[in-house]
Amino acid sequence: MKNLVFLGPPGAGKGTQASRISESLSLPHISTGDILRASIRNQTEIGLKAKAYMDAGNLVPDEIVIGIVKERIAQSDCANGYILDGFPRTLAQAEALDTITTITMAVNIDVDGEKLVKRLSGRRVCPACGETTHVSNYDKPECPKCGVTLIQRVDDNEDTIRNRLAVYNKSTQPLIDYYSGKGILKEIDGFQDIDKVTSDIVDAING
Ligand code: ADP
Ligand code: AMP
Repeated sequence: MKNLVFLGPPGAGKGTQASRISESLSLPHISTGDILRASIRNQTEIGLKAKAYMDAGNLVPDEIVIGIVKERIAQSDCANGYILDGFPRTLAQAEALDTITTITMAVNIDVDGEKLVKRLSGRRVCPACGETTHVSNYDKPECPKCGVTLIQRVDDNEDTIRNRLAVYNKSTQPLIDYYSGKGILKEIDGFQDIDKVTSDIVDAING
């Protein structure tokens, strides 16, 4: 059973790595951010409630995201495990998760401060297939995988990025100690190139 949590500040590379490792290990990639953005696009009740929090870079209330994850990991494709990307983000979320499942490993992707601002302000995402790129290594307007025009997330502007980093430091960073205390934390240097980060995570999961 591989019930994995990917921890790390915004821009650490959680989504990039979760997407690669989801493919190589055949585990569903569950990103609460992606689920919430889809809810906004589909104008669901959850999307309408979440939008203002997300646009400002604040956390969506715990009960909403806990409900989303509870429902998602109960689905049959999660029977052998899953990768949670961007959840939990508060101690209350981590404790709620422990009441519904057993997390087997938390992978903390560590990258610091100003590097994160650069990564997030240059991030481009494909609205069709979810591919994530960066203007510094791919500056064409079309998705390299499916050709659809790439977009910049509304929360990837410098002011909102700085708020997201402050929110991370206050509410999410304590989860490193939470999972370390349970003896299931693996630390990964997220400052390395993307392929090396992937191989370090795969080694940690298999080791
Ligand atoms: P997160 O999901 O943790 O917020 P992303 O995976 O979306 O972060 O990555 C944020 C940005 O940083 C993207 O533009 C991505 O292409 C880039 N990126 C991810 N990992 C690395 C890395 N190891 N080195 C350089 N840039 C990276
Ligand atoms: P992400 O795609 O992980 O960068 O998340 C984008 C935004 O979605 C965050 O800034 C929050 O507003 C919201 N969000 C995603 N996951 C959570 C979570 N676990 N708890 C609260 N808010 C979340």
